[in-house]
Amino acid sequence: MSRIVYVNGEYLPEAEATVSVFDRGFLMADGVYEVTSVLGGKLIDFAGHQLRLARSLKELEIAAPCSDDELLEIHRELVARNDLTDGMVYLQVTRGNPGDRDFVFPDPATTRPTLVMFTQSKPGLADNPQAKTGIKVISIEDIRWGRRDIKTVQLLYPSMGKMMAKKAGADDAWLVEDGKVTEGTSNNVYIVKNGRIITRNLSHDILHGITRAAVLRFAKEAQMVVEERPFTIEEAQGAEEAFMTSASAFVMPVVAVDGASVGDGTPGPVAKRLREIYVEESRKAAI
Ligand code: PMP
Repeated sequence: MSRIVYVNGEYLPEAEATVSVFDRGFLMADGVYEVTSVLGGKLIDFAGHQLRLARSLKELEIAAPCSDDELLEIHRELVARNDLTDGMVYLQVTRGNPGDRDFVFPDPATTRPTLVMFTQSKPGLADNPQAKTGIKVISIEDIRWGRRDIKTVQLLYPSMGKMMAKKAGADDAWLVEDGKVTEGTSNNVYIVKNGRIITRNLSHDILHGITRAAVLRFAKEAQMVVEERPFTIEEAQGAEEAFMTSASAFVMPVVAVDGASVGDGTPGPVAKRLREIYVEESRKAAI
C-alpha cells in the first residue's frame, strides 16, 4: 500500500507529494521538525511535541502553518489513512518557497511556511529487541551550532556521527564538548552513579527532549534521585548504568562507551524500570 502523506493542506499518495526546489528547507535547512510516536494507533505525548514545535518556530520567526487543533487533526487523519498501529508521525515545517534563492528571509505575508507530514510504520515499536541487549556508543566531538535547543532539520552532523559509530562497530555516538557529554546524535543521555540518575541540564547546548521531561518526571515520582549536570565520558565508563531517551527509542540502555563496558555490560535495573514505566504510562496517556 502506498503511503498517504500530507503536504500543505492535501493528503496525497507519496509518489505525488512534492515541494519546490526553491523551498528554504531544501536550499538552507531553514526548517524545524518533530517526531511523535504512535502506539496502538494513538499519539504519545502529542502536547509536548506541539509545544516544542511552537517554541522552535518562534525562535526562528517562522509562522505557525496551522492551528494546534488542525495539527492534531492532521496527525490523527494520517494515522487513520495509513492504518498505522505502531510507528511515528514525522512533521516538518520550513520557511516556505519564496520562488528564488536568497539568504534574506522572505516576507511572511507572501511566503507561507511549508508543512509536510508522513507516517513511518514500526510494528512492535515498544518491543524493540535492542532494549534487551542495550546499545554500544562511541564518543565524537560536538561540532554542531550553538542553538541545539531548536529542533532544526540541520541533521548532517548527527547523520555523520551515526555513520562514524557504524564504521566503529557501534550503534550510536555521544557528542562531547569541552570535555563533557552534551547528548547523543538523536537522543538525550544519562548515567546512574550511586543510584542517582545524572543527565545534562537544559540549555542551548542540547535539545529539550520530550521523552527526557517525561522520564525525569516518572523517575522522581518513583522516588529516584535526579541530578541535572554535565558528565564526562570517563564518568560514564565508570558508572553503574547508562541509557538514552528519545521519542522513538523510549528508554534505551547503553552498555558500552568507547569500547569500555558500563557496569556489567548488560542493561541495568534503573533503565529497565524506567523503560517499563515510560511505555506503560505513555500508553495510558496516549490520545
Ligand atoms: N537530542 C537530539 C539531538 C535529538 O535529535 C532528539 C530526538 N529528535 C532528542 C535529543 C530526544 O528528543 P525527544 O525525546 O523529544 O525525541
